[in-house]
Amino acid sequence: MNLKKQDPEIFNIIESEKKRQVEGLEMIASENYVSEAVLEATGSVLTNKYAEGYPGARYYGGCEFIDQAESLAITRLKKLFKCKFANVQPHSGSSANMAAYAALIKPGDKILGQGMDSGGHLTHGAKVSFSGKWFESVSYGLDPETGVLNYDEILKIAKREKPKVIMCGYSAYPRKIDFKKFREIADSVGAYLIADIAHIAGLVATGYHESPIGVADIVTSTTHKTLRGPRSGIIMTNDEELAKKIDKAVFPMLQGGPLEHVIAAKAVAFGEDLLPEYKKYIKQVLVNMKTFAKTLQSFDFDLVTGGTENHLILVDLRNKNLTGVDFQHALEEAGISVNKNGIPNDPNPPKVTSGIRVGTAALTTRGMGETEMKRIAELFNIVAENINNPKVLAKVKKEVKQMTKNFPVPGIKS
Ligand SMILES: *Cc1c(COP(=O)(O)O)cnc(C)c1O
Repeated sequence: MNLKKQDPEIFNIIESEKKRQVEGLEMIASENYVSEAVLEATGSVLTNKYAEGYPGARYYGGCEFIDQAESLAITRLKKLFKCKFANVQPHSGSSANMAAYAALIKPGDKILGQGMDSGGHLTHGAKVSFSGKWFESVSYGLDPETGVLNYDEILKIAKREKPKVIMCGYSAYPRKIDFKKFREIADSVGAYLIADIAHIAGLVATGYHESPIGVADIVTSTTHKTLRGPRSGIIMTNDEELAKKIDKAVFPMLQGGPLEHVIAAKAVAFGEDLLPEYKKYIKQVLVNMKTFAKTLQSFDFDLVTGGTENHLILVDLRNKNLTGVDFQHALEEAGISVNKNGIPNDPNPPKVTSGIRVGTAALTTRGMGETEMKRIAELFNIVAENINNPKVLAKVKKEVKQMTKNFPVPGIKS
């Protein structure tokens, strides 16, 4: 029996979500739209199969086809990032980071990561996360004046704190990361270096950002942000001994059966990412972001670090007398999704914030270009000036809905 007949409640929820995804402008920097082929693999019967272990060494019978799918995912991922070893079993970016730590250190050891209030991720040592509860976590921030990484300051903190692991790679940082500088800092205190490229993985894979492969000891990532795969995680390294430790950390230390339907979908996505079209896509994501950022600046929006070198921007709303939460809600009223985000030294608490984070990866997947980016930046300005005017917000929402009609979402028939 199909879903509509058997469970109309869930069926209708999914239909409503499809409509939301089609009719709105998705500008949350961590989101994207997967292809129809990736959706098909994710929804496949591979979800029925237990496959604890790794290809060729499973704890269950009947894994011959599962092994082929997982081996393909690994081969394609290694080709995509030009790395020697890859584990495709982590269920998410957070699981990947947990396994990376588990491969390197023990509970109680010290880690140094970027604070959440300056663009770091929960798993980089936040006190509410396992990474701050099970490890002794210390943090570095951003230069309060410029909003960029201050490597001299990070070196100072590393020398003072002597962490076992240094974590780099961020959720809301609009500039490039100098992985070699981080390597020097880690070496000078005898620490391991993990690069978490959850956001910029697509840029790294296509050469639009320096690669941490062979520089960091371990590289982790999500697969559902700029890589445009299913919701999941990956771990890479060039060190054979570390590769063995990573495999043991993922299974049996942290996980049981891998999600082989998701692993097959990752293989499909990595296959797409290896095509020349994907490199063109990432290039367009960056062009779109630059155009969007410039147009916003022409309306006197203040961008943290003064601009962007990747797929996202962080907007400081203080000169507009708006909080992040209020602007996020007003944009939502107008059919545009973004998220509130703290800015360096944010005077407002995390539930309010003084900024928003905006990305172009999802809209670019729909085929939008510079013309749309300019208009959408104008719409941001209209919303900012009419935050308490429901009539104007409704008018913008109508225009948004009209605009989206020419840009289909992959896998959704409308
Ligand atoms: C998104 C993100 C993650 C975690 O991903 P989940 O799949 O949500 O667990 C980890 N690190 C960084 C830097 C991220 O931006």
